Amino acid sequence: MRKKMVAANWKMNLLQADALHFLEAISKSHLIDFSALDAVIFPPSIYLEKMISRSPQGVQIGAQNFYFENNGPFTGEICLEQLKSINCSCVLIGHSERRIVFSETPQMISEKLNAAVKNGFNCILCIGESQSVRESGDHLLFLHAQLEESIGQLDENVIRNLSLAYEPVWAIGTGLTANLEQINEVHNFIRSYLLKHFPTIGSSLRILYGGSCNEQNAKEIFSCPNVDGGLIGGASLDCSKFLEIIRAAHEVSGIEH
Ligand code: PEP
Repeated sequence: MRKKMVAANWKMNLLQADALHFLEAISKSHLIDFSALDAVIFPPSIYLEKMISRSPQGVQIGAQNFYFENNGPFTGEICLEQLKSINCSCVLIGHSERRIVFSETPQMISEKLNAAVKNGFNCILCIGESQSVRESGDHLLFLHAQLEESIGQLDENVIRNLSLAYEPVWAIGTGLTANLEQINEVHNFIRSYLLKHFPTIGSSLRILYGGSCNEQNAKEIFSCPNVDGGLIGGASLDCSKFLEIIRAAHEVSGIEH
């Protein structure tokens, strides 16, 4: 059975003191059995080292961004070797804000993913359609193309530590959550793609849902058969809400409190 994963994408939010306070609160939350699920926090990169050194067992701290080259004239960027040097081994790739606001192309996303998986990083790859694609009814075709261009050429041996996140762009930060029918349709579609292209490991890769997932709807969403947890933006900034979402993942996994 796939272990659930709950990941917090803090984006460009929280000051250092708040971030460390959040982590301390999580560490003290004895109700959570972090060995029973994978929790990941993606803080702003300047907090990575401090948070990694203070994170409780079972909580990974990952980087929201990096560049795929090893070193060189790339002002403002960080590379995977530098992340490794502070014991960071998890990265987020393909988030729609990176694609849209920072113009990351499918080619760049594929280069980043290639570099990260080959360096042994745990990766969460985000895919998702815009409102206009959804309205056109071509969302599955669009998602298929995103899967092909990002993981279509990868060998299954290198993607064992990959999780996918289905994040409909129209649901991110909007308060509009995809409904269960929409979520099931896409997650089942992604699972079929994984099983077809990666027959040995396709059933073990996690598919997370992201898009206005919160402490109120998490349990219902995580109960869908091919939803293996969530990538949470806004609701992950509030420690008590984040813990509630983790608790929902626990409950769905049959873990008692
Ligand atoms: C995200 O940015 O990955 C996200 C899912 O945001 P939100 O939960 O705020 O919609």
